[in-house]
Amino acid sequence: MTATTRHKVVVIGSGFGGLFGTKALRRADVDVTVIAKTTHHLFQPLLYQVATGILSEGEIAPPTREILAGQDNARVILGEVTDVDLQARTVTSQVLGRETVTHYDSLLVAAGAGQSYFGNDHFAEFAPGMKSIDDALELRGRIFGAFEMAELGATRGDDVEHLLTFVVVGAGPTGVEMAGQIAELAHRTLNRDFRAIDTRSSRIILIDAAGQVLPPFGERLGAKTHAELEKLGVEIMLGAMVTDVDERGLEVKFKDGRIERISSVAKIWAAGVQASPLGRTLSEQTGAPLDRAGRIAVNPDLTLPGHPEVFVVGDMIALDNLPGVAQVAIQGAKYAAKEIRNRLEGKPPQEPFKYFDKGSMAIISRFRAVAMVGKLRITGVMAWLMWLVVHLVYLTGFKNRVSALMRWAVTFVSNDRSERTTTEQQIFARTALARLRGGAADLVSDPGEYDAGRVELDDTRRQELEAAAAREAQLTDSGARGVRTEVERGSSVSGA
Ligand SMILES: Cc1cc2nc3c(=O)[nH]c(=O)nc-3n(C[C@H](O)[C@H](O)[C@H](O)COP(=O)(O)OP(=O)(O)OC[C@H]3O[C@@H](n4cnc5c(N)ncnc54)[C@H](O)[C@@H]3O)c2cc1C
Repeated sequence: MTATTRHKVVVIGSGFGGLFGTKALRRADVDVTVIAKTTHHLFQPLLYQVATGILSEGEIAPPTREILAGQDNARVILGEVTDVDLQARTVTSQVLGRETVTHYDSLLVAAGAGQSYFGNDHFAEFAPGMKSIDDALELRGRIFGAFEMAELGATRGDDVEHLLTFVVVGAGPTGVEMAGQIAELAHRTLNRDFRAIDTRSSRIILIDAAGQVLPPFGERLGAKTHAELEKLGVEIMLGAMVTDVDERGLEVKFKDGRIERISSVAKIWAAGVQASPLGRTLSEQTGAPLDRAGRIAVNPDLTLPGHPEVFVVGDMIALDNLPGVAQVAIQGAKYAAKEIRNRLEGKPPQEPFKYFDKGSMAIISRFRAVAMVGKLRITGVMAWLMWLVVHLVYLTGFKNRVSALMRWAVTFVSNDRSERTTTEQQIFARTALARLRGGAADLVSDPGEYDAGRVELDDTRRQELEAAAAREAQLTDSGARGVRTEVERGSSVSGA
């Protein structure tokens, strides 16, 4: 790739903010480098459908490289950003021990948020959150695996209640969707597949410290959702704080001081988010404060104090109490991209960023959802149809839309699931990796061995390599290497 003198924009993250920001710079006279720690763009709102066997991971996480293939001014590099130097205007990223430093003129930070365990990070091993494809596949393995282990246990005459008890912590949209889907699995999808257990006897418990389900949706929709979930067989525990989690279950403390232990092997954490740690890096260099969720306070134009060339968008920002939803990230990223274009074209700055709320929705089960659009409150089949259309529109890529529609037809019409495959690796690989000191980097060769660009060659080694290269060139030129000989004879080239 040739270096250009064009304005360089670095985008951190390939989620909603990163992808939509990059696309909005399609026609700008800039070079865009997207740096993200995964190779895909993830449509997080449908993760729960991967976890419960409705969709495949590819349908909600197409490769970023493929999405941007037609955008000539954009390139994508894989790497976890570990540092941003605002003075030097560089971004440092790492992958498997390889470090890359990328210079920028403008920076768009859209690194999103991770799961928060409210200071109890050790809960994560026993109650995975739902933020990534790894999370969703691990949960799929744990959920379907629990039914398998229950069948095995019941065949041997063991007590399997803890295997048939599923606990979802957090009664926001993700928790509600997850609990609804596990209930549908247990009551409608799997009930004919097992011999020793009756999957319909499963307990699905939804726990939240708040006093209602779906608090941001208001009392009426919360009550409606509560009733629908109970109809599906979900037990709801409100005003209940999870105080401990281990392999075999969890401990819950109620508002009245009562403490209850629930035996459950498959637990899902859907309570609380923590913004990317990059927020702290930026805060330390600018003095911009962080809130309790680690979100950084940005200027009204989404830039950082003293750094008009750095924009932060989406789940990482604390501005006007904006919610952590996809539209905040998308609209913020488009705004930032427009500002970069305006500056290059000598146009005046825009008005401060203003979020346009297009509404919120949550699906409860097939044909049941709740939605808020402006002052409108919609429930039942109507809300479910709206959910279907909105998710189809925003799912990236035509082929993903077509295949998601087919999977939904299978699930919603016949009760079946197309993606029930699970493997041992999906369930245990993360724990195994976490036990290695350097994670996956411990399993690959030292970057220095192969990454010639990073090796400081001493003179002797350099001379040896140059001599070897000269010998190879001589052999090829003399015809002794075969390639040239065969071409000259006009026969097909079969290699050296
Ligand atoms: C399960 C779930 C369900 C949701 N449902 C809805 C919904 O129904 N409707 C709705 O509007 N919103 C929903 N949301 C919220 C919505 O997905 C987020 O608000 C949105 O994704 C935020 O966009 P973002 O660009 O800020 O971050 P993200 O989309 O999370 O993107 C962050 C990107 O940064 C990358 N990244 C992170 N750290 C680094 C690093 N150090 N180096 C390099 N790359 C990094 C990540 O790999 C990712 O590509 C849901 C979220 C979840 C988790």
